[in-house]
Amino acid sequence: MKKFAIIVAGGSGQRMEASIPKQFLLLDNIPILFHTIQAFVALGDIQIILVLPTSQKDYWVELCNKYQFYPSIIICDGGKERFYSVKNGLNLINEPGLVAIHDGVRPLITTTILQQSFQDAAQYGSSVMAIPLKDSIRQVTSNGSSLAVDRTNFRLIQTPQTFVIDEIKSAYDIDFLNFTDDASVMEHSGYPIHLTEGSFQNIKITTKEDLVFAEAIINVNKTISSKSGQ
Ligand code: C5P
Repeated sequence: MKKFAIIVAGGSGQRMEASIPKQFLLLDNIPILFHTIQAFVALGDIQIILVLPTSQKDYWVELCNKYQFYPSIIICDGGKERFYSVKNGLNLINEPGLVAIHDGVRPLITTTILQQSFQDAAQYGSSVMAIPLKDSIRQVTSNGSSLAVDRTNFRLIQTPQTFVIDEIKSAYDIDFLNFTDDASVMEHSGYPIHLTEGSFQNIKITTKEDLVFAEAIINVNKTISSKSGQ
């Protein structure tokens, strides 16, 4: 089946409190987004759509020239919510196949995870990366108190989330509700969701600390691969 990717980087990244959107900040000396795109390019045989804020498209070209980074990708305008950014990307796909939707700010995605995601989506109809919780959790109630819940019944959800193109396009043919990911949109339209085991390293860069964690993970991985002679 033909493979597509929509990398959403259409957000303004206000929680990072930086003057440029977080997807352009440097990680291991190159913009965060370059790491993400490289993992998809390395997969091979895939059409990549990158969704950017309209106001940042010139800056993107500037960055590509500065770092001599010229991947074969289609650029698409972002929307007001992540939902609309994904929808804009989906509107550019008019062929059957599978599409992996991924947050541009998850730069530690690996080609192995992407392969697994496409493989599971081909087998089960969808693949949504999920990891178990390390912390205990409590549910807060409307009267201000809170209740212990069994963490083994919950998963943290990541991207990539990979779907059959016809199905995700039909699921997105609705008005925006408070969806924070694509699995929620699919579920809203009645499609079943298959969870694939995600990775604790596949963090979303949201705040300044996350950038420090990501640098540390990259450095540890470099040390491990140099020790194993890779
Ligand atoms: O805001 P949040 O952290 O959930 O964003 C996840 C991803 O969605 C980020 O890569 C962000 O750039 C993208 N996004 C988008 N369009 C928006 C808001 C967020 O593409 N309007």
